[in-house]
Order: sequence, then structure tokens, then C-alpha cells
Amino acid sequence: MLKIVCQKAFEKRELFELMVLPYWEGPGEAADLSMWKEIAVQPLASGDFNGKAGDTLLLYSQGRLLFLGLGKKDAVNGESLRRAYSAAVRLAQTKKVKTIHLVVPKIPKMADEDVLRGISEGILLTNYSFSQLKYDSLKENPVCLLEKAYFIGLEMKHEALIQKLTQIAAGVYLTRELVNGNADDVTPKMLAETALSLEKRTPGLKATILDKKQIEKEKMGLLLAVNRGSSMDPYLINLSYQGNPKSKEHIVLVGKGITYDTGGLALKPADGMATMKCDMAGAATVLAVVHTAAALQLKVNVTAVAPVTENAIDANSYKNGDVYRSMSGKTIEVNNTDAEGRLVLADAMTYAIKHWQPTKMIDVATLTGGIIIALGEEIAGVFANDDQLAKDLAISSEATGENVWRMPLHADYKEMLKSETADLLNSAGKSASSMTAALFLQEFVGSVHWAHIDFAGSSYLSKPKYYNTSKATGFGVRLLIDFLERHAT
Ligand SMILES: [Zn+2]
Repeated sequence: MLKIVCQKAFEKRELFELMVLPYWEGPGEAADLSMWKEIAVQPLASGDFNGKAGDTLLLYSQGRLLFLGLGKKDAVNGESLRRAYSAAVRLAQTKKVKTIHLVVPKIPKMADEDVLRGISEGILLTNYSFSQLKYDSLKENPVCLLEKAYFIGLEMKHEALIQKLTQIAAGVYLTRELVNGNADDVTPKMLAETALSLEKRTPGLKATILDKKQIEKEKMGLLLAVNRGSSMDPYLINLSYQGNPKSKEHIVLVGKGITYDTGGLALKPADGMATMKCDMAGAATVLAVVHTAAALQLKVNVTAVAPVTENAIDANSYKNGDVYRSMSGKTIEVNNTDAEGRLVLADAMTYAIKHWQPTKMIDVATLTGGIIIALGEEIAGVFANDDQLAKDLAISSEATGENVWRMPLHADYKEMLKSETADLLNSAGKSASSMTAALFLQEFVGSVHWAHIDFAGSSYLSKPKYYNTSKATGFGVRLLIDFLERHAT
């Protein structure tokens, strides 16, 4: 993990491996760069560098100097900082730089803390590489990650904030590692063991793992049905952190954990299946969030509940057209075995309500291709039965740059989930598919304040972008930690 060091002033005679100097688009630098005034004249006059957001120009004097464009002064915000500093880190990596120095700019209309957050996150989130599965190509060209970043012109009082942001980035890395990992490695058992190892690593965490026998005892018929085609047992992972025992507030985060989704007997085509190791991103996210909350000792009570299994194909696979009984007692006619996420979530939410009595429940899932059609890869959909909860998530979205957009829960569309032989159908087809999936889930939340985040697009990109340096983004960790911080008392 990269270490960020606060430094009040320049140490003049240093030879910098890489010094990052921030510039606005248009005239004027973004920080006091009087030491480098002379050097800046020619490149700025030549027009080779104009300070556009993310623009870079590398010069050599006292080591490497990197001019970094921040964009127009009045248009800078947290996200534009994340992206600009991401460009600086990518360039540093191509030069095999291990240490960078940077001058922290003063930005009008932005609080120092927000500036720091944007820069730190841009650097920390970019300084990640998933390379454990590369072999030959890495020998010739190993990925060079930064080890240290000196922030010059920073008050020591900001050290706590830097530490917090570093801890949150560790949560993002954990999620990325789990989502990027081979489905043959990141199995239901491995995820259960991960929860146990997090419990060991960080005080205040309690992991409770239900195995197949205990899942049978709880009559979680939908999780068991989805698991039938797999040679691996399912688990129900609970990871709990009670950081505010005096409070009755209890936020439960439920994460979909399909470690590989073939579609079951409704088999996916090869190209649709090729990314399906990412179908446990919800589980990875909620585990990382609860671990991070404990590491930060947030004054909140929060529990992750993750149903984990493969959706595999086999002679024992559950069947299209058959009816299965959920833990809640409701029966489901499965007309599409590839709509398995809502089935395991339904049982997990029933269990969560029974055993954890949530005052708020948020489920996080790579649930539907429909949400990618609606919102693309950069925005997750939020469905909620509670306006305040949806608003609070929107506030955290704004603060973190993890985009969410509230979608409607149009009650009339419940009609589409009507079955002739059971209480519900599991799939209502293509029309409004992410909404009918959410309406299905709503049947299992009762009167609990609930939100459902469908991040099928934003949790796993078709190719890396900005500070998301691998396909797995770790989306949701920063959003939910911000949400928890705002609920801490
Ligand atoms: Zn599926």
C-alpha cells in the first residue's frame, strides 16, 4: 500500500524522482511554484501544454518535473481531481517511479479536505494492478507501483484524513482482488474463509458462517435450488461490526455472491458467460465495507450478509418451469434459471430480517443486464421503498463520485411477476427488467427501510478507465463507507 506523507514545505536541494506541479487551464499555476517559474515559461508559451484536465508534460530539472493540468479553475471538483491525478500516476508508472512529490493546490470554492480527498483518491485508486495471473509478460515488464507520495504544503492536521482514505482504498483493493480473481479460486468456501480471516485481522468483527446443513435447517429453499448444479457447497456469510452498541440502529448490507454464473439450464452464450466471475461483486463489496467500517472504528452497527454459491450446470441443476419454496414461505416458479441473483438475495434478506432486525437494509448486486442498457457502465441504479434512504445514497454518491441514479419501483409492473402455479415468477422478461427484478426483491423486505443497488455495469468494466485500473472497480465501497459515516453518531 502506497504511503502518503505530509510535508509542510519544500526541501530545496532534493533531486525529485517525480515532482507534480498543478496548473489551471488558461493563465496561472494552481499552487505557488515560484521555484520553477523560469522552467515553465517556454512550454506554456509554446502551447505544448495548456492545463486541460488530465494534460501532462514531462520536463527534466532537479529530476523529473510533471506539469499536470487541472482544467478550468471554476470547474474543478473532486472527480476532476481524481481523474487528473490518476493521469499523473499512470505516467509515473511508465517511468518506473517509486516516489512522487506533489504540490497541493489551493482551489477556490473547495474545502481543503475535499481537495485532499480528490487528490489522494486519484492516486490511491490508480496505484493498483491486478497481476497475480500474469506470468511471462510480467517478467519483461513488471508493473511498477508507487510506494511513497509526499504532499507538499500540507498541514499535519490532515494526517488523520489521509490515514482514513488509505484504509478505504484498502477496502477497494480487497474488493477488486476478489472480483478480478479466477472463479476457480474465489469460490464460496474461499469467500467464507476471507470473512473469517477479516475477523481475525481486525478487532470488533464477528464472522458467522452458515454451511449447507445450517442453510437447510433455515429452509433457504431458493439458495439451495440455485446451488444444486454446483459441486461446491453454498454458504451464508455474516460479518458483523457493532460499533455503537448503545444505538438500536442496525444497517444490514446484503451482497449477491454468485461466484460463477453459467445461467444454469438457461445457459448463457460464451460471450455473456465470460465475465461471470464478477457475479459475486456484491458479496465482496459488503464484506469489504464492514471490514473497513471496523478498521475505521466508525460508530455504527453494520452487518454484511452474503449468500454465496455458483450457478452451475449439471444433471442436478434446478429446472426452468419448476416451483421452489423460499425461506419466507413464498413459492417461486422459476421460468429462468439465469435470474438466480434475486433468488439467493430473497432468502438472504428473509434471513437478515429474522436474525439481524435491520433498521435499514441495502442490497448490492450485479443483478441485471437491463441496468447496463439503462445507465451504462458508470452509473448504478438505486431502487428504494424509502425516499430518505435514496436521498442519503445520492448525497454519498455526489461526495464520492460513485454515480447512482434512482429508478422507479412502479407497482403496476408487479403484474408481470404473476405466476399461474406459484406466488411469483422469478423473471418477467426483457421489458423493464431491472425494475421487475427490484419489484421481486421488494416482495421479501416487508416494512424494512430498504434500497437495492444494481451495479452490474459499474462493478466490472469492459475495460479499465481513469482511476479504475482493472476491470473490477471496487465500486460501492467508498459510497457505502461515506453513507455509514453520515449515519455514525
Ligand atoms: Zn444469472
